[in-house]
Amino acid sequence: MENLFALLPKVDDLLESENIKDLLDYIPRKLVLDSIRIEIEAIREKIKGQRPKDEINKEIEDIHFKIRKRAEKRNKNKLKRVVNCTGVVIHTNLGRSLINKEIMENISEIATNYSNLEYDLETGTRGLRYSHLEEIITEITGGESTIVVNNNAAAVLLVLSTIAKGKEVIVSRGELIEIGGAFRIPEVMEQSGATLISVGTTNKTHLRDYENAINEDTGALLKVHTSNYRILGFTSSVDSEKLFELRKKYDIPLIEDLGSGVLVDLSKYGIEYEPTVQESIKKGVDVVTFSGDKLLGGPQVGIIVGRRKYIEEMKKNPLTRAFRVDKFTISALEATLRYYFDEERAINEIPTLKMLTMSMEEIEKKTKVLQERILEKIEDPGMTIHIENSYSEVGGGSLPLEKLPTKCIVVTLEKMSTQAFENNLRRFHIPIITRLYKDKIYFDLRTIRNEEFDIIVEGLLYAFEKTKGVMQ
Ligand SMILES: *Cc1c(COP(=O)(O)O)cnc(C)c1O
Repeated sequence: MENLFALLPKVDDLLESENIKDLLDYIPRKLVLDSIRIEIEAIREKIKGQRPKDEINKEIEDIHFKIRKRAEKRNKNKLKRVVNCTGVVIHTNLGRSLINKEIMENISEIATNYSNLEYDLETGTRGLRYSHLEEIITEITGGESTIVVNNNAAAVLLVLSTIAKGKEVIVSRGELIEIGGAFRIPEVMEQSGATLISVGTTNKTHLRDYENAINEDTGALLKVHTSNYRILGFTSSVDSEKLFELRKKYDIPLIEDLGSGVLVDLSKYGIEYEPTVQESIKKGVDVVTFSGDKLLGGPQVGIIVGRRKYIEEMKKNPLTRAFRVDKFTISALEATLRYYFDEERAINEIPTLKMLTMSMEEIEKKTKVLQERILEKIEDPGMTIHIENSYSEVGGGSLPLEKLPTKCIVVTLEKMSTQAFENNLRRFHIPIITRLYKDKIYFDLRTIRNEEFDIIVEGLLYAFEKTKGVMQ
């Protein structure tokens, strides 16, 4: 019997062949070599498996192509951009908030140059990384002082561990929430070294419930915004304004985890009212925490604002070092916050706010433009494109009941599997993430930007070709 193993190409020969060589110009040698070895090994296995000679020859003929494909794939970043057609504006799985080009330039300048991150340019001595944000955050929120950490979960942990370690913290039962699976108030409390004292019932908590629980071991009163769920019907909870009465009477610090942390009253734009950070500070809350990448529309951070005496203690807590934010984040946050000096600019320039407040006219206009672009390129009786009214969501565990009226492009397929089509949209080189509902594919124009229209058209063409022949 003929020794087919002798047919296997040599690694070095492949590496130097015309069809492979150029890969080395832009792909690390190791990745090209690995790809060559894997593909040779695959053929070796086939020879061992006694595949016919014709097949082996064909495999060897195609090996360049396979090596190229494998090496290029491995050379791509795993974290990549996608098109969010889901209509969920603050989509945690898709990266929550976007930042605009202007802010990106800011980050790029800081990232590619040295900066005064921890350097005081006045005195020429060591400075604090938080100092760059102190003025802008206190000015916008009305708080005395601030510290910014990696995310809001870290913020809550830092606050509790600084203020209430070894003491009791009183929280309403209706506010013992879980956010995004891993963040649960009782567990964060335990981590911080504070003891959770839950008061009231699931649907009703009164001021007297808090007051009855106060004793000499009480370290703080905690109010948690039930961001991602609502208790409806026969309910009552105690507002931080009311809690402030107890704070004064017993001199116990009042902490509030606001979750989203809006800085402008969004009810003006037809979105359900969410308590603003400024209001909490005004009501006398000692320490407020909130996320940077939810309704604020900035980078991932947890912002802590409040009385100087507590913030100063937090700066000395070793956890602060572990939770510290990097320079890109500080740069992005500072630039995002500056928009808030002018509410109109904030609404127009911060992508999250822009998408949330987008008018129906604008969405409708965009929908028609995209529909036309698609129809120009794809004319096939197997695929219908129409426009439907639908609802977008805020997302990010914010405003769970809010339904934002929107328009969607809806794709209906005649002779192919909708599921397979949706799959292929996700496999496009810029993945397109859509909503699948009742065997139709929805593209919500609220979260789709004009510059993404061409990608969507190409993605549809790609998916259409790929899905041909795959039946319902
Ligand atoms: C989202 C949220 C958190 C967690 O914030 P991250 O920035 O995601 O860490 C904590 N508390 C509340 C009330 C939230 O809504």
